[in-house]
Amino acid sequence: MRPTENEILDIFKKTEALFNGHFLLTSGRHSDVYFQCAKVLQYPEYTKQLCSIIADHFKDKEIDTIISPAIGGLVVGQEVARLLNKRFIFAEREEKRLTLRRGFSISPEEKILVCEDVVTTGGSVFEVIEIVKSNNAELAGVGFIVDRSNGKVNFGYPQISTVKLDVKSYLPEECPFCEKGIEIAKPGSRKIVAD
Ligand SMILES: [Zn+2]
Repeated sequence: MRPTENEILDIFKKTEALFNGHFLLTSGRHSDVYFQCAKVLQYPEYTKQLCSIIADHFKDKEIDTIISPAIGGLVVGQEVARLLNKRFIFAEREEKRLTLRRGFSISPEEKILVCEDVVTTGGSVFEVIEIVKSNNAELAGVGFIVDRSNGKVNFGYPQISTVKLDVKSYLPEECPFCEKGIEIAKPGSRKIVAD
C-alpha cells in the first residue's frame, strides 16, 4: 500500500524522525521542525513503503543502475535497487568531493537513477549528477524521500519526492517562538517529546 503524504508524516512522528517544537539547529538558527530521516529508515517495513513510491514512479523507465551519495542516501538507494532488481552503487566523499570508489564504475550510455534521503539545496545530488554525466551515462531521474526545499529544488530531470516539508528557520533575534517565550531544545537531547 502506498502511503499518502499525511500517512508518511504520521510514520515520521511515530518513529521520532519528525518533531514539532522549538529547536536550535547546528547552523545556530531556530526552527519549529526537527527532522532526522535515519530515524524512520531504522525500520525496514517503513523503508520499503517509502522507497516503493520511488520505485513505482520509475518502474516503466529503462534503468540499469541506482546511485546514491553516501551516507544518507545509502539505505534509500539500496532499497529502490532491491525493489527494481537493479545494480546499486554509491559515491562517497574523498577530500570533500563525491567520488566513485571501491571499484565502482559507470559505463557510457548506462541509464542511472539517483536516490537520496533528504534534499534541502540538493548539493550532493547535483554532485552525483555530475559524476553520471562525466561518465557519459544517461540520467533517468532523481528519487528522494523528503523534499525539504518545499518543492523549490529542480534537478532538470524527472524527479519525485515522497513528501514535501516546509521547514522554516529563523535568526535567534527574529525567532517568533523565542518571542513567545517557548523553551528551546537541541535536537538529540533527551528533553524532546513528540506531540
Ligand atoms: Zn527561537
